[in-house]
Amino acid sequence: MNANSAPPKKILIVGGGSAGWMTALMYGESLIKTGVEITVLESPTVGVIGVGEGSTPALKRYFDALGIAESEWMAECNATYKTGIAFDGWSTKPGYESYFHPFATMVDNLTLPTFIENIHARQRGAHVDARPNRYFLSSRLSDDALAPKASENFPFFTTYGYHFDAALLGQFLHKKAAALGVKHKVCHVTHATRDAQGDIAAVATEEGELLAADFFIDCSGFSALLIGKALETPFVSYADNLLNDSAIAMPTEIGARIEPKTVSAAMKFGWAWQIPLTNRYGNGYVYSSAFVSADQAETELRAKIGTLESDTPARHLKMKLGRVAKHWNRNCLAVGLSQGFLEPLEATALYLTQMTAAIFLLFLEKGDFSEAAQQAYNQQIHDYFDGHRDYIVAHYKTNTRTDTEYWRTNAGNLNGVSDSLKHIFQTWIEGGDLVAELRRQDIERYYPILSWHALLAGMGTFPDVAPAPAGAADMLAPMDDFMRRCALNFRDHRTVLESMG
Ligand SMILES: Cc1cc2nc3c(=O)[nH]c(=O)nc-3n(C[C@H](O)[C@H](O)[C@H](O)COP(=O)(O)OP(=O)(O)OC[C@H]3O[C@@H](n4cnc5c(N)ncnc54)[C@H](O)[C@@H]3O)c2cc1C
Repeated sequence: MNANSAPPKKILIVGGGSAGWMTALMYGESLIKTGVEITVLESPTVGVIGVGEGSTPALKRYFDALGIAESEWMAECNATYKTGIAFDGWSTKPGYESYFHPFATMVDNLTLPTFIENIHARQRGAHVDARPNRYFLSSRLSDDALAPKASENFPFFTTYGYHFDAALLGQFLHKKAAALGVKHKVCHVTHATRDAQGDIAAVATEEGELLAADFFIDCSGFSALLIGKALETPFVSYADNLLNDSAIAMPTEIGARIEPKTVSAAMKFGWAWQIPLTNRYGNGYVYSSAFVSADQAETELRAKIGTLESDTPARHLKMKLGRVAKHWNRNCLAVGLSQGFLEPLEATALYLTQMTAAIFLLFLEKGDFSEAAQQAYNQQIHDYFDGHRDYIVAHYKTNTRTDTEYWRTNAGNLNGVSDSLKHIFQTWIEGGDLVAELRRQDIERYYPILSWHALLAGMGTFPDVAPAPAGAADMLAPMDDFMRRCALNFRDHRTVLESMG
């Protein structure tokens, strides 16, 4: 595709997982009325990933922009609310064995200064509580199993994400996209053909058809049929940065109480997630196969979630961490697992999918297919991927576990620490101005400044200095009372979910 290319009139999306349908609905909404034809191809034999996923608050913005109410989609996708992530067992520092990474709410503006003040006091050696938990309403909502939907007389907005079944989410989005006129074809793509310039001309199917289009979107998952196999776009591996390459998923029953949080618990060779859906917990273990066999990992997971005696089958998955060198290559855009993957520690895959599709839509709408546009776009998406990677790497650098070779290797692995991350660590450990450093690097574009404070303070990453006076510690009792009274404005999480259907 070159600078003179006309905007596409016929778009083929290969893959009907959550990435395929999320893109189809977004593009259907804005392009079908301009005469663009959009078709999603889905294999009858290759399934989708759907392990019980969590989102960031961006998913709410996606639905809001499309005018889709929570009451319409959440029950269909067995979705629950998510106010943040509890990290258990990552740090061995006394008092920091568990911390909560919150999604911010408006009232946190009142307690945030105390959090920051106590971080600085702790950096100077004072024995104050510098974990994020007490300072953020979403942590309180999670502890009390309350839905982040305030009553009318509480005029402060809350920010939250969701947990959902990604396979059901794909089906819901499919239904909405079909209603807009997005076409759907069940067929198995075998390969793509290319024209004289090297662009993709058509995809061939096992059923014997050759389907042409002027633009192709690769949502075929890890198989990366178009961006990888057809266009041979190089892959930038993150294997040096992040050691995990495997996952096991297994559901368990969910009880009456549903805390609106993901739990991420450190294990011997990685970490385990627990995600509440309305009908089950999604559990899983993300680990490195270089340190433990799949069988041993499964036994460790089963022991943790109480399924050693159960015959519930475990689903084993391989993960290829990294990203393509060009998300937009010629007349093809890769969206979802086909463009790359980070381990799901911060549940950001669908967020990256959403951003990839949404930012490209701006170029489609402008009709700008120049080389410069392509380069600028790809750089922007690389920044998102690499920035998110660094945030995940930071968990492995700030944890203090040394109980297995896996954790010791992680701690000693300096290859994967980017210059950006080195500057962040240095600023923090010297008690410098972290906000200024994150702004200098323009990191808040893709990762909230608050998240960096939550991570670094939550892990107890503080210098060993002589004890100093406590500072804001005296403020904590009134603040606890403030949080308690704020929480009175929220209802039981399960009750709210059941009221939606
Ligand atoms: C262990 C694990 C945990 C995760 N946790 C989270 C999380 O907490 N939060 C989050 O946001 N994300 C998470 N993800 C990622 C998330 O599951 C995916 O990003 C999301 O489901 C989108 O996947 P996808 O649509 O790109 O691919 P898939 O779900 O794999 O879908 C691929 C589609 O391509 C089709 N296809 C494949 N080959 C062909 C062919 N030859 N012809 C035609 N069609 C074909 C398939 O039929 C399918 O429809 C996790 C992933 C893993 C592996």
